Amino acid sequence: MTTRTYNLAVVGYGGMGSYHVDHLLKSNPQIHVKGIFDIKQERNDVALSKGLQVYESLDALLSDKSIHIVLIATPNDVHKEIAIKALKAHKHVVCEKPVTIYARDLEEIMTVAEETGQVFMVHQNRRWDEDFLTVKKIYNEKMTGEIFHIESRVHGANGIPGDWRHLKKNGGGMVLDWGVHLLDQLLFMIHSPVTSVYANLSYVLGDEVDDGFQTYLTFANGITALVEVGTTNFISLPRWYLKGTEGTAIIEDWGLNGKIVKQNKDIIASAPKPIKAGQGLTKTMAPPSEEATTMVNLPAASVLSQDFYDNLVSVIEGRTEAIVKNHEVLRVLKLMESIFESAEKNEVIKTSL
Ligand code: NAD
Repeated sequence: MTTRTYNLAVVGYGGMGSYHVDHLLKSNPQIHVKGIFDIKQERNDVALSKGLQVYESLDALLSDKSIHIVLIATPNDVHKEIAIKALKAHKHVVCEKPVTIYARDLEEIMTVAEETGQVFMVHQNRRWDEDFLTVKKIYNEKMTGEIFHIESRVHGANGIPGDWRHLKKNGGGMVLDWGVHLLDQLLFMIHSPVTSVYANLSYVLGDEVDDGFQTYLTFANGITALVEVGTTNFISLPRWYLKGTEGTAIIEDWGLNGKIVKQNKDIIASAPKPIKAGQGLTKTMAPPSEEATTMVNLPAASVLSQDFYDNLVSVIEGRTEAIVKNHEVLRVLKLMESIFESAEKNEVIKTSL
């Protein structure tokens, strides 16, 4: 069987655009990176030094009939306009996250993708993160019993990076930047509607956009989740904390340090001994007796069937379904809109997402 090769061009050759070219696309033998379009001359110079073709305009790129796939890695506010133009020029499109700032804009893109018959896929790459896939395995295999509460956090101490991420008009802020990943992971794993959302956003750095947030979600199946992003955390809390009916799991960091502590269900353990806690005595908060629990190592992460670009090629060739489906991405955008609404009104928002 002969395999077909696809030419790809990048629109927005900054940090993430060049990461796709230098890392993510390197291992895919079916995709050839042909060229780029960027509004900054210095980025064009870098592209030329790497042997890439530099287009003088988006229209010039889109009128190149040899380009089959367009990757959009510009600031968030221009994703929609570029995506629609590219789809109408009969290109398949990969778009960076957050795909758009508002759900209705993704709906417009989805309509054009359907009308033109081109593939449109959003790069929700953190579905492939090992820490998340470890959590997914613990969740699916009920390694801590039925999970009833999940905490997912990312903490940094470097403020909001770069230039456009500070600005509302470009779709800056941490809900859109990191929230989109953490929420996408949860909705990809928990197959139950979100019934309520409460959120608060932080503005400690004085930017016009949020520099972090906390949101509390309730799912119809009873699971609750706390999702938190911080950029002024000089001490980080663990990346994941999972509470199940038969155990607790913790994943400290992306290096997969962590553990599971499971209840020994078949042992009648002796009552915990009261401990002195501060100026008081407690049995409730005392550690469980030694025979009551067992510590186990984190499991090896589950795996997704294909990597992002392998999946893209097989979707283009009609061989498989997209791992990142547009209706799932749309659900995350709607959830982020509820987060903004909750924070603005300081109210719990009832949802059926
Ligand atoms: P960046 O500022 O480093 O790069 C953006 C580039 O786009 C710049 O070179 C800029 O000159 C160019 N640009 C701006 N407007 C343009 C336009 N209209 N046409 C063509 N080029 C234009 O930003 P970044 O960090 O690379 O982020 C780009 C996108 O990638 C954002 O949507 C961001 O959220 C996403 N991103 C995703 C991940 C991930 O893990 N999936 C990580 C980082 C960034």
